[in-house]
Amino acid sequence: MSASSFLVRGRYVLTMAGLAPPHERDRTPGVHLDGVVADGAVLVRDGAVVEVAAYDVLRAEHPDLPVHGDGTGVVLPGLVSTHTHLSEALATGMGSELSLFEWGEGIVGPLGAVLTREDAAEGTALRAVEMLLSGVTTVNDMFCHGHLGSLATLGVVDGLERSGMRGVVSFGPEDVELAEPGTARQGEVVETVMAEHHALAARTATAGLVDFRMGVGTLLGQSDALLAAGVAAAQEHGWAVHTHLAEVREELTTAQHRWGRRTVPHAEAIGLLDVPLVAGHAVWVTESDVAVLARRGVAVAHNPVANMILASGVCPVPRLRAAGVVVGIGTDGAASNDSQDMLGAVKAAALLQKVHHLDAQVVDALDVLTMATIDGARALGLDHLVGSLEPGKRADVVLLQDTVDVAVLHDPVSQVVYGASPRSVRSVWVDGRLVVDDHRCLTVDEAAQVARCRPLVERIAVGSGLRAAGHSVAGGSR
Ligand SMILES: [Zn+2]
Repeated sequence: MSASSFLVRGRYVLTMAGLAPPHERDRTPGVHLDGVVADGAVLVRDGAVVEVAAYDVLRAEHPDLPVHGDGTGVVLPGLVSTHTHLSEALATGMGSELSLFEWGEGIVGPLGAVLTREDAAEGTALRAVEMLLSGVTTVNDMFCHGHLGSLATLGVVDGLERSGMRGVVSFGPEDVELAEPGTARQGEVVETVMAEHHALAARTATAGLVDFRMGVGTLLGQSDALLAAGVAAAQEHGWAVHTHLAEVREELTTAQHRWGRRTVPHAEAIGLLDVPLVAGHAVWVTESDVAVLARRGVAVAHNPVANMILASGVCPVPRLRAAGVVVGIGTDGAASNDSQDMLGAVKAAALLQKVHHLDAQVVDALDVLTMATIDGARALGLDHLVGSLEPGKRADVVLLQDTVDVAVLHDPVSQVVYGASPRSVRSVWVDGRLVVDDHRCLTVDEAAQVARCRPLVERIAVGSGLRAAGHSVAGGSR
């Protein structure tokens, strides 16, 4: 019997497969076991899901296979974090009380000017531990830096490979502060940025579990020359794109002044919606913007914790989903969330809508778990591979077990969304490979990685000037 074959057993297996669309689902209060297999198991072979069925049945058919899980926990597909910035991996806790524009100028700009490929690799490995231990198996990253020519973004692929995570990586440059329009300097900046997109694409071509997207930090942060070069390259090479869109109210008025229209219609006008696009936030969208996003198949990455911490606003999640827009959930960057805890983001996604609409049923636990799994995979164009536990998909699997958080399972979906924490994550497989076991990351030694990152954190704080600007306590990282 192949060592790559095994069973993952749970009191419940949440397949996240075969679910009705949001507007067709039975929403009467009570327990719904849509896509749930009680006393179930997942049969994995050679990195793929072969079958999901009752444990007794699978055990009888495969009596010699190793079994993970004692039948008391919850098995679910690996979570898909659809938006983060690993460029902030070593900068948590900075500027948490600033609004988005202040924070971008005060923190992200100085930080990005000093990041290196080593910072990217080590920071990514560090945050991979945090992501894996909150059930994330796929992350969609946008690495933002202004250290042009450093090719720092390639370090994200290095870090993801070390951790064994699946990912989609992009470089999210902004250049409006770097050169005047029409100058030779601007031409150099655009060329250097485009070279890094190409280098990152080439790097991912040799990474089995990591895909490439072209990043556009924000439309307003890019010169018209860089936007045009990016759109042309995306169309020429068939690159999918990852950007921020309609995150804060200021974006609407600033775009109106600059282009005479909001960012969503501008994105459509310049051809950015002609390629697959995942857009972070979509908080400040009008009815016509929602119609454009739906019509052009733009997916939205909703980041409830970051939207709350930066006081950006409330994404109209029910409205977007009702219009047919695919909405995933992200943590957003380690500095605009201060954590990469995806389970926390999933819970917050439900709570934010409930309190905003003053309606406890406006979204439910199954909605947000769908967004965090199969819809996140759809948003990234990866739903043929991951996002649900179905025969033929890759085995990205999470087992929650052993802790008080998942001890009581009257409603397993509710318990996962509202009760589970990273403490409950017992085991995680990515592509059939065991990367977390017994609540410990196997691929990256957590304590050793923290120690490796300490001097980098210190160098970044000093080198960026953020220590001198009062955003980092001297000696705080030691
Ligand atoms: Zn972001």
